[in-house]
Amino acid sequence: MKSVAPFTRRQFLSDASRLSALYALAGAVPLPAFSSSFAGNSRMDQTPIVDEGYAAVYKVTDGIYATISNTSKGFTTICNGGFLFGKDAGLVLEGFGTPMGSHFQLDAYHKVTQAPVTGALVTHYHFDHTMGNATYGANSIQFWGHANVAKRMMESYGSMQGADRAAFLAPSEKRIQNANSDVAKRHAQGDLGAISNVFDMANKTSLAFPNRPLDPAKLPLHVDLGHFPISVEHFPGHSGTDIIVRAPEQKVVFAGDLVFSQSYPACFDEQCTMSGWRNTLKTFASWDKDTTFVPGHGPVCGQDGIQNLRDLFDDLGEQAEKMHKAGVPLSDAFDQYVIPEKFKTYPVFAWGFCIGGAMAKLYAEMGAH
Ligand SMILES: [Zn+2]
Repeated sequence: MKSVAPFTRRQFLSDASRLSALYALAGAVPLPAFSSSFAGNSRMDQTPIVDEGYAAVYKVTDGIYATISNTSKGFTTICNGGFLFGKDAGLVLEGFGTPMGSHFQLDAYHKVTQAPVTGALVTHYHFDHTMGNATYGANSIQFWGHANVAKRMMESYGSMQGADRAAFLAPSEKRIQNANSDVAKRHAQGDLGAISNVFDMANKTSLAFPNRPLDPAKLPLHVDLGHFPISVEHFPGHSGTDIIVRAPEQKVVFAGDLVFSQSYPACFDEQCTMSGWRNTLKTFASWDKDTTFVPGHGPVCGQDGIQNLRDLFDDLGEQAEKMHKAGVPLSDAFDQYVIPEKFKTYPVFAWGFCIGGAMAKLYAEMGAH
């Protein structure tokens, strides 16, 4: 019988390198930024328990591990994650960018503990955290997420599945044609690269949804894995579906995309709120000075990382306010933000997803249209 495998390995690799080429073309992921800063991080063991290049798993403390992605080496996981376990049970975090990514983390989990995985949790609905969700149902693992994750995934990614690619990308193509400056054109090209990638990822996976929806009104939820207290909490800011997992006694927080470490935050979501996010970061800053944060993207950080991100939000806010006062319309402000020296090394996933999105939100919060 003939093989019916839809992809050969060669095809897969060429797809993967096309993805990297697109990102590189877009200037979306300056390659060294996510890969250089892990060594010398005193917040976890220096030697990973596993390292596949695209991601490595590090021990933070007994029963707590962080999975840190390195997007310069591939898009299997894309986001960070991790897991926590006690003597009775364990919880793994994030669905990652592909089922291969969530599998990778599950394998790492089983390397370090015999405790059964009693739950998986996704910190929000975005593609880079959820396209690999299918692994959990396939392994009979109860899957937790904000109550709106399924709905938002269907709206955003279900609508891409089977859709006409050219028609879907047409508005982004049009933005390139209509760009009124080289800078605007470059930003629009980068955004098209990112949107194309999301479209292709959504069309290569089966969407899978949490079967234990978490109602934010009923959080925090206290979880006992037989070791230390864990609390599952909701905060506003990044996506309207953001959940964090905190081990207060261990002073470790899995913050999802409420924390971007050494990177520009993604602010495109219709439920992203800049004021809400800044308040959330203020709360994080009020926690113990020795807290370790595992961010959604970038290296593990402490309170210094929260401060840097707050400074970045201040800069976005100040530049937006200045442009707004000077009468710069949003359509221009979208592209005119200037990355200051302090944040020059911070990767921007895609301009419109990060900075353009932030300008639009900030203008809206100032009452402009
Ligand atoms: Zn996100």
